[in-house]
Amino acid sequence: MPIFNFSAGPAVLPKEVLAHAGAEMLDWHGSGMSVMEMSHRGPEFMSIYREAEQDLRDLLAVPANYRILFLQGGGLGENAIVPMNLVGRKGQGATVDFVHTGSWSGKSLKEAQKYAQVNVAASTQAEGFNRVPDVDSWKLSPDPAYVHICTNETIDGVEYPFVPDIAARTHGAPLVADMSSHILSRVIDVSKYGVIFGGAQKNIGPAGLTLVIVREDLLGHALPICPSAFNWQVVAENNSMYNTPPTYAIYIAGLVFKWLKQQGGVAALEERNIAKATLLYACLDATDFYQNRVLPGFRSRMNVPFYLRDESLNDAFLAGARERGLLQLKGHKSVGGMRASIYNAMPLEGVQALVDYLNTFARQHGG
Ligand code: PMP
Repeated sequence: MPIFNFSAGPAVLPKEVLAHAGAEMLDWHGSGMSVMEMSHRGPEFMSIYREAEQDLRDLLAVPANYRILFLQGGGLGENAIVPMNLVGRKGQGATVDFVHTGSWSGKSLKEAQKYAQVNVAASTQAEGFNRVPDVDSWKLSPDPAYVHICTNETIDGVEYPFVPDIAARTHGAPLVADMSSHILSRVIDVSKYGVIFGGAQKNIGPAGLTLVIVREDLLGHALPICPSAFNWQVVAENNSMYNTPPTYAIYIAGLVFKWLKQQGGVAALEERNIAKATLLYACLDATDFYQNRVLPGFRSRMNVPFYLRDESLNDAFLAGARERGLLQLKGHKSVGGMRASIYNAMPLEGVQALVDYLNTFARQHGG
C-alpha cells in the first residue's frame, strides 16, 4: 500500500532524493566519507554547498544583488534575527509594521516587540484569519524599518495571491516575507522583497536549516546585541561558514533543488500544485460534511485546513485515514480539525487518494 504523508513539517521529501542520499550515505562520490563526516571547509563539502546555492539561485532567479544565507534557528529564530538585523536601519525606537494574517505572523510580531515599536498595519484576527486584507486598508507607518508579512500561514491555510506594493507609502521600506511553508511552490519575483526567509523543513529539506535571501543594501545594520552567528553581514562575508552550518541539511536541500530542476523548475511545480489544490478544495466544497473557512482567492495551495461538520467523528476519520496509508492529517493543536499539507513532494496520486477517502468517509457517515 502506498503511504502518503500530509505532515505540515518536517514533511514529505521526494522519494528519489531519499533514495539518492541513502545510496551515498556511507561513501559520498568515492570520498570514503559520509557527507555528515566531512569538514564544512573541505573541498568536498564546499562543492556541495556551492552547487546548492547556485541551483537555488537558478530556481528562484535570485538577482545578483541578493545574498543567499544558510542559517540555523528556524522560522521562529528569524522572528528575532530579522529585527536584530533591520531595526538598526532606523535607529533607536524604530517602528516596524506587521500584517497579521494568522498564527505565524502573530508569533513574529510578538517577538519583534522585544526589539522595536510594532505597528500592526492590518489584522484579520477578528474574522478568524480567513483572508489577506486589502492592501489599501493597511495602516502603514510613514517610515518603518521594514514591513513583515507571512506569505503562507501554515496553520490557518491563508496564502497571499499577490505581492503587496508598499514602497511608495513607506519611504521604500523593505518587505520582509516569511515564506517557510510555500517557498519554491510558486514563481516569485525576488526583487519585490527585501528579505525572504524560511525554515527548510517543509518544501526544501530536513529541519535545522533556515534559508535567508537578503538584498545586499540591507546588510550591515545589525544591532550590537545581535549574535555574530546571526548577523547577516558576518554570515554573508563568510559564505555561511562563520560557524558550522547544518551540513547534512544543506546537502539534502541541494538534492531537492536538483530534483526540482529535473521536474521542470518552479513554474512546472506551480502548475502541479494548482492542480492538486484545486482537486482537494473542490472535494471539500462539494459537501457541507467538510468545511474550509478561508475565503476562495486566499486559500493556501500548500496547507489545507478543514473541519468535519460533526467533530465527534475526528478520531474515526484519522484512524480510517491511517489504515489507508494517509498519514499525519491531524490539524494543528491550536486550531483543531484536520490539515492536509500538500507540498511539492506530494504527488497528485496522494491528493487523489485523500479525496477518495474524504468522499467515502462522508458517504459512510451520512454526508
Ligand atoms: N513560520 C511559518 C510560516 C511556519 O510554518 C513555521 C513552522 N511551522 C515557523 C515560522 C516556525 O518555524 P520553526 O519551527 O522552524 O522555528
